[in-house]
Amino acid sequence: MDNNSPKVEESIIKERKASNFIRSLIIEDNKTGKWGNRVHTRFPPEPNGYLHIGHAKSICLNFGMAQEFGGITNLRFDDTNPVKEDIEYVDAIMEDVKWLGFDWEDRLFYASDYFDRLYELACELIKKGKAFVCELNPEEMREYRGTLTQAGKNSPFRDRTPEENLDIFVKMKNGEYPDGSKVLRAKIDMSHPNIVMRDPVIYRIRRAHHHRTGDKWCIYPMYDFTHCISDSLENITHSLCTLEFENNRPLYDWFLDELNLYHPQQTEFARLNLNYTVMSKRKLLQLVQEGYVNGWDDPRMPTICGLRRRGYTPESIRNFAEMIGVAKSESIVEFGQLEFAIRDHLNKVAPRVMAVLNPLKVSITNYPENQSEFLEAVNNPEDETQGTRQVPFTKELYIEKDDFMEDPPKKFFRLSPGSEVRLRYAYIIRCDEVVKDDNGEIVELRCTYFPETKSGNQTEGRKVKSTIHWVSAENAVDAEVRIYEQLFMVENPNDTSEGKSFTDYINPDSLKIIKNAKLEPSLTAAKIGDKYQFERLGYFCVDYDSKGNNPVFNRTVTLKDTWAKISNRA
Ligand code: ATP
Ligand code: MG
Repeated sequence: MDNNSPKVEESIIKERKASNFIRSLIIEDNKTGKWGNRVHTRFPPEPNGYLHIGHAKSICLNFGMAQEFGGITNLRFDDTNPVKEDIEYVDAIMEDVKWLGFDWEDRLFYASDYFDRLYELACELIKKGKAFVCELNPEEMREYRGTLTQAGKNSPFRDRTPEENLDIFVKMKNGEYPDGSKVLRAKIDMSHPNIVMRDPVIYRIRRAHHHRTGDKWCIYPMYDFTHCISDSLENITHSLCTLEFENNRPLYDWFLDELNLYHPQQTEFARLNLNYTVMSKRKLLQLVQEGYVNGWDDPRMPTICGLRRRGYTPESIRNFAEMIGVAKSESIVEFGQLEFAIRDHLNKVAPRVMAVLNPLKVSITNYPENQSEFLEAVNNPEDETQGTRQVPFTKELYIEKDDFMEDPPKKFFRLSPGSEVRLRYAYIIRCDEVVKDDNGEIVELRCTYFPETKSGNQTEGRKVKSTIHWVSAENAVDAEVRIYEQLFMVENPNDTSEGKSFTDYINPDSLKIIKNAKLEPSLTAAKIGDKYQFERLGYFCVDYDSKGNNPVFNRTVTLKDTWAKISNRA
């Protein structure tokens, strides 16, 4: 075989893209019997925002790997920060994980369920002389911590006896001290080269109402302490998290070792970064709160609910996750890859229909008044089982404004005065006359049709260079169509090097609303969430703003990879 053929090259690229070192790790663990062939993962979102496509990568990895190896996955809400968390987010996260096609069965957990146990374990650390109550204020604490190049100093409170520490800690829990006045810290090593290990805080005082535990607690455990213990209590085997937690792994191990608890293995992977978008929940929240978009599920958002509303399918997102693979080093994935995944799926499953977004009326002068007929149209040439449908042909039609030019350049093969074009599934027509209004706007074309050229007839000897789509005027469904472009104008909106904020890069033309699109009548049956290919235009999905006989469609994606074109031009 010729190794330089593009086919081979393509498959090599695919292979490389799909590499997933977690898969290899699990295979290795199963070989050595490290976990007794168990694979038990968890997806641990913090309920402080909606899930985004980056979370989808983590969901597909955690649930996907467990599924592949006959294991199980827990859904665990990491709800240790009562101030930012909300039940609205809990519900939305569950909906999104289910929609992606994953099932945690009866394994729904909340870190807050472990507050009692965590408190006991903190007491145990104190008794072992491995934790102490510290009263340095945050500023002093920072000062004592040292820097990357300089060791820290011991807190003056570090040498309290376990008895004294325990006594104060119990009083902290009982609400005897004001917020922020004391913290519990692990007693590790203030000169540790890894700053994370310099006596990290494990409990703080915070009188905040928790969405599950109410006002039971006024002290809350920190993430690093909670996370490893939650993993341990749930018997997790592979604790997968993103690279920014690499420095925290020694602490993860330290807590579990000191407390002599069952010890899952934390492994870090590179988070998903996508160009032309932002993915931090803080920034997504800002987009919503400041009205740059219409909510978390705005179809321009990289949130899972936004993508769903836009017309993405769970299959396409799962394929995307598989396609990009899992690696140990950061990279930026092109948005075009996500679009490739949805196009690839919709190409197979979405029925094709005709829709005219910018209608121009066409009258067929030689077609009898009051006559109409049904013509057979193929629903999806990629899949014969999707069958055919009947589309009505009448004397008055709409075609796309763009498909006509009064003064066409040489290579324009669509309709122009005197030229002929085929109407998809119908006849060849010729443009005889252009009708304009008082402002000189073209409002109508008068055309002749040729009955003998009916689609499917033997029409040898009659060739036209172009086929265009159309809709019968009499039977058209009026629709609103929302055309989306990227929300940001630059590849990396997170780049603040010139004193800019990511909101400075917002694309002012990211949403264009077409109010008077005309659709073929089969679309009266379209339901919210249904997906179609509008022939020659792209993939579109019915939005929940649709009312009665006036559907609203979101453009999911164009037919061709416009990104590829952009980079070719560049
Ligand atoms: P953000 O930075 O957007 O606020 P987060 O990491 O704080 O996200 P969590 O709710 O803690 O959000 O995330 C839950 C899980 O999803 C974590 O295991 C986290 O590592 C993973 N995750 C978050 N963002 C990404 C991403 N971009 N790519 C892959 N995994 C991610
Ligand atoms: Mg987090």
